[in-house]
Amino acid sequence: MALEVIMPKAGVDMTEGQIVQWNKKVGEFVKEGEVLLEIMTDKVSMELEAEEDGYLIAILKGDGETVPVTEVIGYLGEEGENIPTAGAAAPEASPAPATASASNDDNKSDNAYDIIVIGGGPAGYVSAIKAAQLGGKVALVEKSELGGTCLNRGCIPTKTYLHNAEIIENIGHAANRGIVIENPNFTVDMDKVLETKNKVVNTLVGGVAGLLRSYGVDVHKGIGTITKDKNVLVNGSELLETKKIILAGGSKVSKINVPGMESSLVMTSDDILEMNEVPESLVIIGGGVVGIELGQAFMTFGSKVTVIEMMDRIVPAMDAEVSKNLRLILERKGMTILTDTKLQEIIEEDGKLRIKVEGKDDITANKALLSIGRVPDLEGIGDVEFELDRGRIKVNEYMETSVPGIYAPGDINGTKMLAHAAFRMGEVAAENALKGNHAVAKLNLTPAAIYTLPEVAAVGLTEEQAREKYDVQIGKFNFAANGRAIASDAAQGFVKVIADKKYGEVLGVHIIGPAAAELINEASTIIEMEITVEEMLKTIHGHPTFSEVMYEAFADVLGLAVHSPKKK
Ligand SMILES: Cc1cc2nc3c(=O)[nH]c(=O)nc-3n(C[C@H](O)[C@H](O)[C@H](O)COP(=O)(O)OP(=O)(O)OC[C@H]3O[C@@H](n4cnc5c(N)ncnc54)[C@H](O)[C@@H]3O)c2cc1C
Repeated sequence: MALEVIMPKAGVDMTEGQIVQWNKKVGEFVKEGEVLLEIMTDKVSMELEAEEDGYLIAILKGDGETVPVTEVIGYLGEEGENIPTAGAAAPEASPAPATASASNDDNKSDNAYDIIVIGGGPAGYVSAIKAAQLGGKVALVEKSELGGTCLNRGCIPTKTYLHNAEIIENIGHAANRGIVIENPNFTVDMDKVLETKNKVVNTLVGGVAGLLRSYGVDVHKGIGTITKDKNVLVNGSELLETKKIILAGGSKVSKINVPGMESSLVMTSDDILEMNEVPESLVIIGGGVVGIELGQAFMTFGSKVTVIEMMDRIVPAMDAEVSKNLRLILERKGMTILTDTKLQEIIEEDGKLRIKVEGKDDITANKALLSIGRVPDLEGIGDVEFELDRGRIKVNEYMETSVPGIYAPGDINGTKMLAHAAFRMGEVAAENALKGNHAVAKLNLTPAAIYTLPEVAAVGLTEEQAREKYDVQIGKFNFAANGRAIASDAAQGFVKVIADKKYGEVLGVHIIGPAAAELINEASTIIEMEITVEEMLKTIHGHPTFSEVMYEAFADVLGLAVHSPKKK
């Protein structure tokens, strides 16, 4: 895809720059690091280098023009490639006309819906509401519960469990702080835990139903499938006519073909969230986010938890330093973590599981949780053939599939399997389906969080990724030096900021510590708005807050963290 060349923000006060001259012509090949153009700010003149090899496919602003910082001034790309029509080149107010997506409006009756959404999860219900807000006549088909995986079997149930775990940990700290609890022994009543979780889920599912009702979305219960002429059949019998379709079928648990996997003692994340006991011992197969969060919860409820992970670290998508730190903390709390460990076989004997792994002793456990990832749920595709990529529905940046007029936001396209990414993809799909393709889902700055105790969160590049492409400088500050964290018995972890040495551009922020999942949103805003390290430091952060750790980590990038001892 074409790479934008933008007017850089080369200083804290720089708001615009003048193009002195382009050193390359349109159609000319440019090597990474070669000077593309010269610009002048009110203070300095500088050369702008190409960030990667490519052809200069367009110049949007010519010699002598003055341009605000971050505005696109040209594009690099493949030979003969067209410049993208979205984003800066196509303002939202005047969308590019729908091209491919025009096709299924043909031959539809006046009664046809403008949009039918299949699936009522984060991608589906948000696209239905967005489409209704934009004036569309909308229906939504859901085969199970509104709210999808996230509300019913994912984000919300796990966070309800993890809040219970937090309460238990806090009870553990109480005695150190002079709060005397007479009988410190506790048991976890899983029937009550399930009841609480279901109450939380029902509140939120009811909220989604209410929102859809308020926007006039017709909700149909049943399995939706797409017919050859791009309408939707509900439960194989009720035909709903529509001009456009949003297929937001989401994902389901992924299974592996290992002998013994069929044992009823091996659970999926769906099963464990309905289990009304705390198993004495629990093996977690897969040390990704879901496995580690549920491992944390059940370890705190009283299970002896062992995690088996094939890779060399848990939560491998996270920054290596953060992942290592999290492992140490969890091990200190009693979790056994086996990395570089491959599952071989599961044997059920005497009502227990014997789990065989390559090159290590067998592990015995009462139950196991299989958490190795998720695969798209393709039940809705019906009679239409879509282009797939490793079982995921392929979409372009407009969320449109290979079949014109059918969009597929959310987990079903496997791009970013997170609820908040699904929300954004759903909005973009609805906007494009109704108004023609113009809105783009930019997902590279989607924050991610793990709700362990302490939490972990990240946005942007990891240190390893950043070092591959940039000359970086790192800032770090520990929660151990933060007043609020110390006062709250939460002085564990750090914030790490990765910035580009040349322009002070923030490339990534990684947190392990209290409220990390909340704090990361400040970092997302900073990166999205292209606020430099120096500019961030102009913002006064309240005291005492956990956010001051973020502030100090940014200051540390420049060696200016006031609450860090002088570096030798
Ligand atoms: C245990 C767990 C914890 C998680 N925690 C988090 C978290 O903390 N934060 C986060 O961002 N993400 C989390 N996720 C991921 C998150 O749940 C998903 O990314 C999100 O739900 C994807 O939304 P979606 O709408 O694409 O799909 P889904 O939520 O899967 O919704 C799809 C819906 O479509 C319905 N459907 C499918 N096919 C049809 C059909 N043919 N007809 C009718 N209906 C159909 C399904 O019943 C379902 O309701 C978690 C996931 C799991 C499993």
